[in-house]
Order: sequence, then C-alpha cells, then structure tokens
Amino acid sequence: MLSYQHEFHAGNHADVFKHSVLALALRALQRKDKPLRVLDIHAGSGSYDLRGPEAKKAGEHENGIVRVLAAGNPPAELAPYLASIRAANGGGAVLPTGPLRRYPGSPAIAHSLLRPADHLELMELHPRSLERLRRQFGREPRVHIHERDAFEGLAALLPPPERRGLVLVDPAYEIKEDFTRVAELLKICHKRFAGGVYLLWYPLIRHPLAERFPAKIRSTGIPDILQAELQVEAPGFAGMRGSGLCIVNPPYGLETELNRLLPWLWQVLKNDDRSGWRTAWLTEAR
Ligand code: SAM
Repeated sequence: MLSYQHEFHAGNHADVFKHSVLALALRALQRKDKPLRVLDIHAGSGSYDLRGPEAKKAGEHENGIVRVLAAGNPPAELAPYLASIRAANGGGAVLPTGPLRRYPGSPAIAHSLLRPADHLELMELHPRSLERLRRQFGREPRVHIHERDAFEGLAALLPPPERRGLVLVDPAYEIKEDFTRVAELLKICHKRFAGGVYLLWYPLIRHPLAERFPAKIRSTGIPDILQAELQVEAPGFAGMRGSGLCIVNPPYGLETELNRLLPWLWQVLKNDDRSGWRTAWLTEAR
C-alpha cells in the first residue's frame, strides 16, 4: 500500500524546480504546431489546497512557491509556470496578491498548458489521489486517467498516436528500488519511442541508490540526456537538500533557458550559500 501523499509537500522547492522545468519544456515543444501528448505517470492528486490540514502542517510551500511569488523580477523563463499558478487560482491577468489558495500539481500544470489538439495521460495508484484526479479532470475529453502501475503501464501507451510526447517520471521513491526501476523503464520505453522527451525527477538525498541515479541513467547508453539540479541546502544536509531532472531529448533551446532560470530560482530558494545549481550533459547527442 502506498503511503506517500504529495499533499504534505505541494509547492516546496522541489515542486517549483520540477514544475517550472516541466512548463518550460512543454512550451518549447509547442513551438511546433503539431499536436503532442503529455504522459504524467505518477500524477498525484492533480492540484492541492494550500489551506488544507496537510499543506498547513508541513508548510513546505512557504519556502517554495510563496518565496517565488514574493520575489521581484522573475525571468521570462518562469512565465509558463506562473501562468499555471494563475490558472489554478482563478485565472486573471495578475498573480494572487493575498495568500495563495491552490497549488497546481503536474497534471494541472500540463492541463493548463494544453492546446486544443494536445492530450494528457495520467497514471496513479493511490485511491484518494485517483478520486481527486477524476473529480478535476473526469469530464475533460483531452485527459485520460488510468488506475495503473506506471512501471507496468507506460510502455503500453508508447509511442503516442501523435508521435510527439513528453513523459514525466516522478515517483516519490518511498520504495528505494524505484531508482533502479526508473532506469529500466527508460530503456524499455526509449526502444518503443526513441524521440520522446523524458523528464526523470530525482531527489538529492544521502542514499547510495539516489547518489548513483544519474550514473545509472548514463549507463543506459541512451544519447542526448541533459541533467539539471537545484540544491538549496548545504551538501551534508540530513534531509532532501534539493532535486534534479534527467531530461532525455531536451527540446531545442531548453539548456539555454535553464541556464537563465536556475540561477534566479537558486537565489530565491536557497537556505544555505554552500548550495547551488547546475546543468550538464550526462550523454551527448548522437
Ligand atoms: N507528479 C506529481 C506532481 O508533480 O504534482 C507528484 C507525484 S508524487 C511525487 C508521486 C505519486 O506517484 C504519488 O501520488 C503516488 O501515489 C504515485 N505512485 C507511486 N508509485 C506508483 C506507481 N508504481 N504507479 C503509479 N503511481 C504511483
């Protein structure tokens, strides 16, 4: 039985990092007119009530999205993410000035950025999250909700009919074997859909499997993988000091955009000057 609930963590520094890169990558893919499909295979609950007991208990968003909204002069690269934050809070031209009510998870962010011919596939196993996904997106014809194990189900959806797609792999890693399973999943899925953009999220924590994760992804031999990391705590920090993404087939221009976005995010989100951000190529383009 899965016990992880993203409700406790919504809007924290790792969400800001992951979701701003997701929004940027999606917008970059949408520079071409052709329709695409987003496959969000660890969907969570879709969006989150920041006034709910879980979010209030942990308060993690205070050091995440709340800091971002309070900071001035966000870079242009943050615009698609900020548009999703607006959409989750009633739309309108301006960002909320009072306390934020809702935080959009990856499904709500992807959904808010879909064009009329784009589609969104969501996979989830937790009954409460599934119920929330169905309540939010059950009537939306472009969104397809699957009660299905991501590791078993993704390959069946590849390649997408559009032959253009972005896959977000975002397990909570409460089962540490998931670090190994993600690399295996990538190998299988890349054989079926080599042209897909894959965003593989991982936490920066002190655990041997987590520390070896980028090397494990490199050892798949798959070309064209960009790595991005945002660290907000010092290297010896006991908890999650930051997070990273391995981005397979990053859309053209994304590296440059990340090199503008991440320094700004780091300035706003860091809790320790010994932290930092970086981008690097895990494997070169063929
Ligand atoms: N992607 C979400 C977001 O950014 O808003 C957060 C996802 S949360 C970190 C991980 C989710 O994956 C949890 O809701 C959990 O129930 C779900 N999950 C864990 N293992 C899974 C599996 N094997 N298949 C599908 N969902 C799974």
